[in-house]
Amino acid sequence: MKEHIQRLWYLQEQALRKEKLIKEKGKSPYIEKMALLKERANKAEQQQQRATKKLQQIKQSLHKAEMNMRMIEDEKNTLEHQLYENGHFHAKELLQMEKRLQDMKESILKEEDNTLMIMEKKEEIEQYADKLVIFIEQATTKCVEWQGKCEEQQKFINDEIAIINKEIDAIEDHMPEALLADFKKRSVQSQGKAIAKLKDDFCGECGIQLPSSLVQRVKSSSQLQICNNCGRILYWKAENVDE
Ligand SMILES: [Zn+2]
Repeated sequence: MKEHIQRLWYLQEQALRKEKLIKEKGKSPYIEKMALLKERANKAEQQQQRATKKLQQIKQSLHKAEMNMRMIEDEKNTLEHQLYENGHFHAKELLQMEKRLQDMKESILKEEDNTLMIMEKKEEIEQYADKLVIFIEQATTKCVEWQGKCEEQQKFINDEIAIINKEIDAIEDHMPEALLADFKKRSVQSQGKAIAKLKDDFCGECGIQLPSSLVQRVKSSSQLQICNNCGRILYWKAENVDE
């Protein structure tokens, strides 16, 4: 019986380890990091699309401003030509024409300023869009890398679990059926901890002080001894004093 209890203890440890591994598998740090990065990359992609749209609008305005400037310039040239080549205007007409010419020169200056401003804005947005593209590319590469690491980790955990399952099967195969059934029932009742180690005179799980006669029986008897407080099987091993 003592040997069986020792095996049951080992069985419990393996089952607890397996449970921990399954939990770990569900919360790989890469899964969270990847989700976060993907979210940021998605946002960057939306920003990039907006920047591209804005850029198209600016290009159109730029084109319009340039056309406008050319038109005004043509008009100005014609006017200048009229003014200086054919000098047969009346004084009043001449004044009007000179005034129009002055206005036109001002319009051209304004239009030039406008064009310059649009070009600056265009450059700014282009740089911003370029940065976003680089970020999205880097995020995609990083995600692929993390995905690989995540899969590696999952594979490692799966392999570990497979080994533990084999060990559990091997132990269970050599366990008396009634004892195993009793152990499993107690396991379910006590969150996977059907066996408690003796710690001096105390139950290692519920912490209650046990009667010295029971402690004695746990150490010497070949019968199953149960903690009368938590109902767990009590386990003791002479060489386990350091734990
Ligand atoms: Zn107990």
